[in-house]
Amino acid sequence: MEFDYIIIGSGAVGSSLAYQLSKNNKSLALVDIAKTKKPKIKRRYKAPFIDKCTKSYTHSISNVFGGNTELWASKIYLMTKGEIKDWPIEYDELLSHSMQLAKELNINHDELYNHDDIDDSAFFHRAKRSDLGNIFEYFQLSQRKNITCFEQSTLVDVELNNKNSLIKSIKINQKSFKSKKLKVRKAIIFAAGGLGNLCLYKIIIDKVFKKKDRFNYFPIVDHPHISIGKINVKSIARLNRFKNVEDCILVNGKKNKYAFQISPIYLGDKFFRRLEQSFGEEKYSDLILFFIRNFEKFFSRFKRYILIILRKIHRHNTGSLEVWFEEPVNFRSKVSFSKKKWFNGNVQKLDINYKFQKPNYKILKSELDLYTNNKLYDFYEDQLNEENIYTGLKPSCSTPLKSSPENGELNKNCNVKGINNLFMLGTNVYPSVGVTNPTWTLMVLAFRLSKFLKSNFEN
Ligand SMILES: Cc1cc2nc3c(=O)[nH]c(=O)nc-3n(C[C@H](O)[C@H](O)[C@H](O)COP(=O)(O)OP(=O)(O)OC[C@H]3O[C@@H](n4cnc5c(N)ncnc54)[C@H](O)[C@@H]3O)c2cc1C
Repeated sequence: MEFDYIIIGSGAVGSSLAYQLSKNNKSLALVDIAKTKKPKIKRRYKAPFIDKCTKSYTHSISNVFGGNTELWASKIYLMTKGEIKDWPIEYDELLSHSMQLAKELNINHDELYNHDDIDDSAFFHRAKRSDLGNIFEYFQLSQRKNITCFEQSTLVDVELNNKNSLIKSIKINQKSFKSKKLKVRKAIIFAAGGLGNLCLYKIIIDKVFKKKDRFNYFPIVDHPHISIGKINVKSIARLNRFKNVEDCILVNGKKNKYAFQISPIYLGDKFFRRLEQSFGEEKYSDLILFFIRNFEKFFSRFKRYILIILRKIHRHNTGSLEVWFEEPVNFRSKVSFSKKKWFNGNVQKLDINYKFQKPNYKILKSELDLYTNNKLYDFYEDQLNEENIYTGLKPSCSTPLKSSPENGELNKNCNVKGINNLFMLGTNVYPSVGVTNPTWTLMVLAFRLSKFLKSNFEN
């Protein structure tokens, strides 16, 4: 089988690329470990490519085409100038692509970009909940005749030309067939998510790049979320603007970047999220999950009443305050390759050692005091510990874009240096992470990459 483009991964990036690249009747293979058919109950699965992982890192996959956009809250916003200051891409270029994409998708770009200054250090914007949902479905990709979907499949090997500078074909494995060879005419794009991409990258490193020890482990950065507690919005002077909106975030604190959001009380109980992930696809999983979710609702209400009786919270409290914040890149947290393999022993698993940096707690506390005039009640300093942190939704910065990459690293066009037709895109290519939800920026980068591919491979 031969295709113009082969894309591995069908999430926000893979589906956006497939939508753009299949427009001129180009043939396209979309390969994903997930299924094309949705299960009856939407849920988070444990990522099969993770072997060992520290407790505070909770990554999951949806196991359906569309990737984690099956699970996301569809909140979209373009990353700000300050957040991408270390990137080898000019902000004006990103902004111009963002405007073009928004126009094409009929989205009001002002809502993804404009913000309202509170003072010279902070501003506020609504983290708009869009109606994008599952991006594979949004673009109706299953109806495109020139896209062939290979479900429950992954790349296991590549065949290169004599100079190792071009991939000629790839081998994929699927559960129901042993392996298939797919020839590629133009380019291959790895779009398997911030962590999934690393498993694919390892295959290329082992096959092509000699200094392997340089690629043994990578940094991993994310947005830690912390639910501070129940709040009475009236008591919080600088956060008053939240009063009448459902979701909004505030960025650029004095010392770090933060996003503050009022959420329904008890949103995001880590215990239940973990419990959900502990179920595989056993016969009665859906039924058990149905009971667990209803119990969770009952439990939340019950807990609320108990706290009111104990005078721990006020019955007029309007929500809980969630804060998430930027983590700078460092090697205290790292992702490395495990000895274990998955997918019939063909692909290496990952070990994740995620450690939140302790000094960040202190900074966060002083920042919170500033924003709330010390009036945030039901907040205890000891809540700022690793146990209460929830992270793992946006694994970032492991293989950053570079303006002068070495062989095997990525240049600013997402091209793996040394292999002219291999590209990679996901949050793993972000040089820094910021606090803005990353997916609109990912879609903009996919739009930018599709233009690059069209002008370099189709003329
Ligand atoms: C609960 C939740 C809420 C979120 N809310 C928001 C939000 O409101 N706003 C926002 O901007 N972001 C949000 N996110 C993050 C958002 O979902 C991701 O940023 C986005 O989906 C990333 O797109 P992607 O294409 O890079 O990766 P993914 O969407 O993760 O897609 C990767 C795809 O690759 C597949 N894959 C993995 N490994 C392989 C392999 N070896 N071979 C083949 N296929 C493979 C996976 O099955 C998956 O389909 C949320 C995430 C979660 C989990």
